[in-house]
Amino acid sequence: MTARAPLPLRSPVSLLAAEFDHHFARHLPGESPDAGPPRQSRPVHGACWSAVPPTPVAAPTLLAWSDDLAGTLGLAPPDDAPAVAEVLAGNRLLPGMKPIAACYGGHQFGQWAGQLGDGRAIVLGDLTAPDGQRWELQLKGAGLTPYSRRADGRAVLRSSLREFVCSEAMHHLGVPTTRALALVGTGETVIRDMFYDGRPEAEPGAVVTRVAPSFVRFGNFEIFAARGDHERLRLLADYVIDHFFPEIEGAGAERYAAWFAEVARRTALLMAHWLRVGFVHGVMNTDNLSILGLTIDYGPFGWLDAFDPDFTPNTTDQGGRYAYAQQPGVALWNLQRLAEALAPLLDRPAAEAVAGTLDGFAGVFADAWKRQALAKVGLLPADGGEDELVARLLGIMTWAEVDTTRFFRALMAVDPARLPADGLPPPLLAACYAPRALPAAFVGGLRDWLAAYAARLAADGVDDATRRARMAAANPRIIPRNYLQQQAIDAAAGGDLAPLARLLAAVRDPYADGPDDDPHAALRPEWARHAPGCSALSCSS
Ligand code: AMP
Ligand code: MG
Repeated sequence: MTARAPLPLRSPVSLLAAEFDHHFARHLPGESPDAGPPRQSRPVHGACWSAVPPTPVAAPTLLAWSDDLAGTLGLAPPDDAPAVAEVLAGNRLLPGMKPIAACYGGHQFGQWAGQLGDGRAIVLGDLTAPDGQRWELQLKGAGLTPYSRRADGRAVLRSSLREFVCSEAMHHLGVPTTRALALVGTGETVIRDMFYDGRPEAEPGAVVTRVAPSFVRFGNFEIFAARGDHERLRLLADYVIDHFFPEIEGAGAERYAAWFAEVARRTALLMAHWLRVGFVHGVMNTDNLSILGLTIDYGPFGWLDAFDPDFTPNTTDQGGRYAYAQQPGVALWNLQRLAEALAPLLDRPAAEAVAGTLDGFAGVFADAWKRQALAKVGLLPADGGEDELVARLLGIMTWAEVDTTRFFRALMAVDPARLPADGLPPPLLAACYAPRALPAAFVGGLRDWLAAYAARLAADGVDDATRRARMAAANPRIIPRNYLQQQAIDAAAGGDLAPLARLLAAVRDPYADGPDDDPHAALRPEWARHAPGCSALSCSS
């Protein structure tokens, strides 16, 4: 008898008819209802969250929707788009929803920043997917909360569209991430000084619906530790472990230490993924690190065009603290802050275990990165000089302007055992930004490397079909380069959603082969090198 696919537990339902719960608020202490007006900024003590309804917007319209995520959630495509837009703009609450903003703190650019919290994000509630997984729905840009400080609680279309596109892209790239269900235009403008040059302008506003099992960050723990509120600290840690790390064994302090090791493992894996796909988060503050090891809070992020370990898209990050190659080290720094925050929950053996996890982080990351880096050239971790081989290649790639994404796809198409008599194989030349002006050291270095690579493949007995299959799964052909997103933003701001739709279709199938003239797979054009939004970005969002 052939096995039958299991029947779906239920057929997709409209978002409007979905059953909502508010798990986080039910399990954790919130701010007293008479603490103050819901939209008044204030210090919030002794609470994991504050109740605050979204502030309605003038004219919500649905600009984008993820059928893929909706399917995972057990939701049908929107049958009544205006009504769905009303809900996902925050104009209308559905039964079971309880809108809340979370309290957290964080270290920003190396300094303790005190209370931050959801200043413009509001969790509406959660729903349970047909497979039993619980997902929170959060509106980003939904209005003022007690954590808005002096800001306006809103978000502009450009940053919301970038978050929507990039969450979709990351998911399909196989990188752990928060998801996005919908992008809704608000019909209102938001004032932003995009270049921080004293020339604020009105921009179209938007709300993105983010979706994740939990949005808890390192900073949610730090705020309680900083205030000596060990009771809330423990409640939050128990909640997170019970519901999101059910596999963690042990009891008491030992269990916290085991959980911390798992958080560190996931964070290391995330860093290896980011390096693999050429992603630079841009603002790796501790309030922007997910306790679940997800990519979270897409702001002034970017992708490597030319391979450059020192690249950061964030113009606010002058020292390059959060540059591409710094990210694993910053992850460790952030884990150290998390460990300090958890210290009150630990006894001596558990504290030693946590210290051991921190000491072991570099090795855990190196293992994860080795596996991913080797896959990029079609090799597997094995004894021998393979990791040096990749490190050497990455070094050579900095000697010329080599497009990170195109290069590895081009390498896939090249037989390293059959090099031209001189120069580089045409596919590799086509991955360079100035193929006619390549430094001799680069050409010579890469030729030598290709010879060593061919020898390694032969020694490891890796045939070409195997090599290409491994490389095709590790090296995306499509990434949402900043200039592609900017083109989608400019068009969407003028009412044309077609470029956004085309970009979304492209990023949802990032590893598939495609035509050479596909604009989504092309090198960054020269005009985009310094164009606003296409290379460097401010934090203004
Ligand atoms: P971010 O740098 O985007 O991670 O944000 C850092 C902190 O600033 C978080 O507490 C955000 O909620 C808050 N924040 C950022 N932009 C706004 C805004 N427009 N309105 C209110 N709070 C904001
Ligand atoms: Mg943030």
